[in-house]
Amino acid sequence: MSNPFLDPPSDPAGPGDAPPCILCGSHRRTKVFEKQGYDFLRCGECSLVRLEPVPDEKTLAQVYESSYDDGAYRTFADAHQIRLAHAEARLDIVAPHASEGPWLDVGCSTGAFLDAASRRGIDIDGLDVSASAVETARGRGLNAFHAAAESFEPERRYAYITGFDVLEHVVDPGAFLDRIHGWLAPRGRIALTVPDIKSIHARLMGRHWYYYSPPLHITYFDRATATKMMESHGFYPIAIANAPKVMTIDYVTSQLATFNPWLYRAVSAVSGLVPATLRSRALPISTGEILVVASA
Ligand SMILES: [Zn+2]
Repeated sequence: MSNPFLDPPSDPAGPGDAPPCILCGSHRRTKVFEKQGYDFLRCGECSLVRLEPVPDEKTLAQVYESSYDDGAYRTFADAHQIRLAHAEARLDIVAPHASEGPWLDVGCSTGAFLDAASRRGIDIDGLDVSASAVETARGRGLNAFHAAAESFEPERRYAYITGFDVLEHVVDPGAFLDRIHGWLAPRGRIALTVPDIKSIHARLMGRHWYYYSPPLHITYFDRATATKMMESHGFYPIAIANAPKVMTIDYVTSQLATFNPWLYRAVSAVSGLVPATLRSRALPISTGEILVVASA
């Protein structure tokens, strides 16, 4: 099977006017495919993949706010019970790596992870760019701040900062890592998840992979580029693992209807054969994401 992420491109010369790779500075960047009006450029040196053009902050702010209200994130926000089961599973993976002290969840959305952690007695704050998501989290009695990472000035230092599905969203991942590094207490740690473009899911689905999602997902990592990015900004990776999502088959199907209509048609045909009781049971499902834990 031909896969542009594995096979060398026939034309090794990248687009001449594209900016250099944000991770290694190389100008050897090659277009691997185009999706929804964005080019996906892969660095010929380090394999980091990034959108071109990079969407501007104003576009992203509009997409996020409208998507919470009436778009892609509606089913996401509604499915709090599933998110809570998922958050419990994430907590089981990240908690053993925590150091003593308060936590911050960056990109906390409507607060499922804050909720799960609080139930275990963890002192945790949340941060999100969406005003409506933060409002929902606060409505659940959780401590969430509404701010962008660039402007957030925490009132205290954190021992542990989690960021699930955040690094691929931010315009400047290096600047983001620098920011959160400054919010950590000495020897604090971070735990970040990112989609892995070298996962079996990405390899099999090619450009149809659900995480190839412009303009929301801007930078696309694998294990090597994710750890290199952290190392370049003052972190020492200490653990890396697959990060399954806990979901129901019904939830997966509804998400695909929004994010990947092509795959939705295939999956809904199969899921119709699965008994309803199984379709609504929460299961850990591998989606091609990895978790990286790193120390400051
Ligand atoms: Zn590079």
